[in-house]
Amino acid sequence: MNKIPYLDLRIRDQQELNGILSSIERVLRHGILIMGPELSELEEKVAAYCNRKYAIGVASGTDALFLTFRALGLKHGDEVITNSYSWIATANAIHLTGAVPVFADILPDLTLDPHSVKKMITGRTKAILAVNYSGRVCDYDKLSQIARDHKLHLIEDASQSFGARRQEKIAGSFGEISCISLNPMKLFGACGEAGIILTDSQKIKAIIEVDRYNGMENKIICNNPGVNSRMDTLQAAILLYRLKNFSKIIKRRREIALLYNEKFKRLGITVFEDGNEILSSYFSYFIGVDNREALLEHLESNGVECKLRDSDYLPGQPAYQNCKADTPNAKRLFEKLVLLPASEALSNDQVNKIINEVTMYIRGIDRNDS
Ligand SMILES: *Cc1c(COP(=O)(O)O)cnc(C)c1O
Repeated sequence: MNKIPYLDLRIRDQQELNGILSSIERVLRHGILIMGPELSELEEKVAAYCNRKYAIGVASGTDALFLTFRALGLKHGDEVITNSYSWIATANAIHLTGAVPVFADILPDLTLDPHSVKKMITGRTKAILAVNYSGRVCDYDKLSQIARDHKLHLIEDASQSFGARRQEKIAGSFGEISCISLNPMKLFGACGEAGIILTDSQKIKAIIEVDRYNGMENKIICNNPGVNSRMDTLQAAILLYRLKNFSKIIKRRREIALLYNEKFKRLGITVFEDGNEILSSYFSYFIGVDNREALLEHLESNGVECKLRDSDYLPGQPAYQNCKADTPNAKRLFEKLVLLPASEALSNDQVNKIINEVTMYIRGIDRNDS
């Protein structure tokens, strides 16, 4: 029996493979391998897609966050309030500037809890980093109000939510600056490391463009030392090709999620659906069940690869266990969560197989008896 993998990044569609190969060939023939014309074109197109004035391509999503915090002048002793559940990079980027992450709780819909954020504000708080975890866009109306009231920077991490929306507004358009990882595991992914920063501020754009190029202004003068974090032209070319076809990815993800949601709700499983406000990208398809170990075991032994994301509980990581955290809801919720395969590459047969296996587990049917 072929196991259904959680994620398979091989390109099996011949048309896509040809498209990517010819994008690569174009770059190899013009030879501008760093900061080539494809990067500027990608920056323009992603900015337009996300309804922003400027985009700055960088070497990774982690760098996007790190360069953003550097541009905002974050320093030793500053505090940044952020999600308690996220990929470790969000806390690391804060830490690398010398600031400390402070972990806020999440709402039952998996988005950052504005009330918890407010509670964690101190005299040292400089910024809020809101992560659209799993593809669900946070409540930026409330978060912006809090940021304004307390004169804090508000940064959006849209790495998992490319193409998602909240109240019709697209992910990547919220807050002062948005950071997006474009690594191969993300919905809008390159074939290697890449990231992008979005903003409407000409000033921030100018600072980051110099900082990503070792602090060289006009390529000749260095006033403030920077880092080397430019996006390869090859990755930019691949991303340009994939942006053209991105709507298909999100459409198929939603199709699969809708099939899951409908079936699982009837089985009494907790699902995270789109509502009046949120249109998720369904980057991670979570379900909530009691006794998840048994479900996991059933699925794994019947050919469905699932995942837990307990390592995303950042205050639980040794590096951050001494940081301030307000996370009662997050802890309770995540004890029940399991990730199912939900990639756009799944066939209908595979989706049905996953639905059937979950159904059989919930109904307590042992396959050996049937
Ligand atoms: C993947 C991810 C990052 C880090 O991006 P890299 O490109 O892997 O450095 C940051 N934040 C979130 C929410 C992510 O999912």
